[in-house]
Amino acid sequence: LNAMIVTINPATEEVLADYPVMSQGDVEAVLHQAEQDFIQWKSVPFEVRRNLMVRLGALLRDEKEQHAALISREMGKPLSQAAAEVLKCALICDFYAEHAEAFLQPEEIAVDGSRGMVTFEPLGLLLGVMPWNFPFWQVFRFAVPAVMAGNGVIMKHAPNVTGSAIAIEDLFRRAGFPPHLYRTMHIAFEEVDRLTGFMIAHPSIRAVSLTGSTAAGMAVAEKAGRALKRSVMELGGNDPYLVLDDADLEAAVTVCAASRLLNSGQSCIAAKRFIVHTRVKDRFEALLVARMKGAKMGDPFDPETEVGPMARGDLRDQLHHQVEQSVRDGAQLLCGGVMPEGKGYFYPPTVLSGITKSMAVYGEETFGPVAAIIEAADDAEMVRIANDSPYGLGSAVFSADITRALAIARQLETGNCYINAMVKSDPRLPFGGVKQSGYGRELSSYGIKEFVNIKTLCF
Ligand code: NDP
Repeated sequence: LNAMIVTINPATEEVLADYPVMSQGDVEAVLHQAEQDFIQWKSVPFEVRRNLMVRLGALLRDEKEQHAALISREMGKPLSQAAAEVLKCALICDFYAEHAEAFLQPEEIAVDGSRGMVTFEPLGLLLGVMPWNFPFWQVFRFAVPAVMAGNGVIMKHAPNVTGSAIAIEDLFRRAGFPPHLYRTMHIAFEEVDRLTGFMIAHPSIRAVSLTGSTAAGMAVAEKAGRALKRSVMELGGNDPYLVLDDADLEAAVTVCAASRLLNSGQSCIAAKRFIVHTRVKDRFEALLVARMKGAKMGDPFDPETEVGPMARGDLRDQLHHQVEQSVRDGAQLLCGGVMPEGKGYFYPPTVLSGITKSMAVYGEETFGPVAAIIEAADDAEMVRIANDSPYGLGSAVFSADITRALAIARQLETGNCYINAMVKSDPRLPFGGVKQSGYGRELSSYGIKEFVNIKTLCF
């Protein structure tokens, strides 16, 4: 058994730190402590919860630089994007501090002469299983509404961002929350499956939320199903961006490239498949290639850098394999596609065109700066190709005609669709997917209601 979790700087391949792992006994002890704090927390009034959450947001703002640098060191995203991520976490603290009480107001429903009332009670300890791509945001998106609803949080974070996991635990504590209400579990690589199963089956854990790959989601949802625990799954995506023949192409390409390059391409809601009308395909292609070639790749701490390294070597290998496989199957490589020499897990912005169904980049999620262009003859064919995917997370439509774009948006099998803009997660709007992109919703009033007991009272 590996007694340590070792973190590596993906830009330099240097070891950053190592952290001791927990045994099953350690895990049980933490669950016990957290449960004690939950029992006290569940009846703490909203006003107190609100004040602590506002303080957590303020800490994030005050310490933005230090947390951003940690994120960039651990997973390689450009520093300005890491700073924006930390500020977005402060925003969600403020959002739920302000709105949680209203979202969870008891509702009255008249029934045959008596009064019906619906209340929203906390469930208990919730397990979060989170990925490394937005090491702060993914955690806050889940934990902030959970805690505002009166729950406690147990976090199983991705091992390559263990420093971030510890920093977040420390932030909750310093903001003044009960010391064990939010706890992180450090699990050895070989024990992840077993100990996650142990936690899910444990009576103190009442529900689980996972953000990550579809494979990880299936493994965790299966355990939750066996234990009859509620789960929310935010899984992978292969988001289609549909470019119609009347679109403002310059504007569309700016948005498409920004979405594909955000977080160096490692986002579940990044644009991945560009389904482009035949009439505008050549121009779209030329503009996109120019934009992707112009994106500067390099040191995440250099303010000029737009694309940092991939977070791990194995993830870069997997991405390159998908590109090579597609080229072997007939894809045209318009730029990128060559593994750079030297230290760091860098992968250049890449554009592949002439994509057909048999190619890897058509059906699989690409987690890096790789754009796949698929040509389509009309709106109906665009919709058919967009929906020809096991995934259903985000999508976008580009057109000068909003009515036409909305008609297409309604037909797309995705959890959200943006017109002439890139898909984003916003605390005010529900966020989640369909098909193999998962189920349940995060954010807004929908997200906070995933992890409460919707209790009916009749009197
Ligand atoms: P994973 O989905 O494997 O990891 C996400 C989280 O799930 C980690 O904390 C991981 O822990 C945990 N996990 C994985 N398997 C299990 C399990 N059986 N039981 C409990 N927890 C589990 O992502 P990877 O980092 O391996 O990335 C692989 C691919 O996943 C990427 O190339 C990308 O396509 C996709 N991905 C999608 C994300 C998204 O936002 N949609 C985010 C991250 C990845 P541990 O690492 O310790 O196993």
